[in-house]
Amino acid sequence: MASGLLLVLSAPSGCGKTTIVRKVMATLPGLVFSVSHTTRPARAGEVDGVQYHFVDEAAFLQIRDQQPSGFLEWARVHGNLYGTGVETVRQLQQTGCDVILDIDVQGAAQVRERVPAVSVFIAPPSMQELERRLRGRGTEEGAILKKRLDNAAKEIAAAGKYQYLIVNDRLDEAVETFRSIIIAERSRQRRTLSGQPVQLACSNRH
Ligand code: ADP
Ligand code: 5GP
Repeated sequence: MASGLLLVLSAPSGCGKTTIVRKVMATLPGLVFSVSHTTRPARAGEVDGVQYHFVDEAAFLQIRDQQPSGFLEWARVHGNLYGTGVETVRQLQQTGCDVILDIDVQGAAQVRERVPAVSVFIAPPSMQELERRLRGRGTEEGAILKKRLDNAAKEIAAAGKYQYLIVNDRLDEAVETFRSIIIAERSRQRRTLSGQPVQLACSNRH
């Protein structure tokens, strides 16, 4: 059965991850975004079921405690809970599309331990530029903005655990790099659902 790649993407908030993913998805077919659950309140313009499944803490914990397993990974990030549904990922992978998980460094570590995945970290060119972008986006301010900036330094410290690093300085270059990573990973040995390479039936003998 067809099984897409699992693409784990992490970046400190405000690095440009959403922008890069949107641009790559608009030009490269065969990609699908896994919609996470979160207890964070929806921002203006966000729609339940599109950016996230917005749930309260009780509902989140109920999914987390489902047996055999509700979430492939989950974590508390900037004070809110976020999690990736096991079934969500399984069903998306079975369509043969490559599945993008936009998750934090704690969640990425859990995924790497549990399933085969391609991991990509997006870093800002500098902390000053990160702050400028986050302020420019205008979705957080005050203590919440400060919390996201404080967290960024810790997240960047985990970048070395990822297979690929993209520094999002010039947006067009970062988009091209992410596209190239996906194309290269698609060209590796084809895999089965279990993550094992497909056994090719035919080999020529001389
Ligand atoms: P994230 O999803 O990582 O939190 P966003 O994609 O929302 O970040 O980007 C944060 C802000 O930075 C947005 O206003 C976006 O337009 C801007 N941005 C993204 N990439 C770049 C770049 N390479 N140069 C300048 N601004 C950028
Ligand atoms: P935001 O609130 O800005 O949408 O996301 C904040 C952070 O939570 C980002 O670093 C994002 O990658 C992370 N995040 C989003 N969904 C998940 C998830 O399902 N699991 C984990 N561990 N982190 C997530």
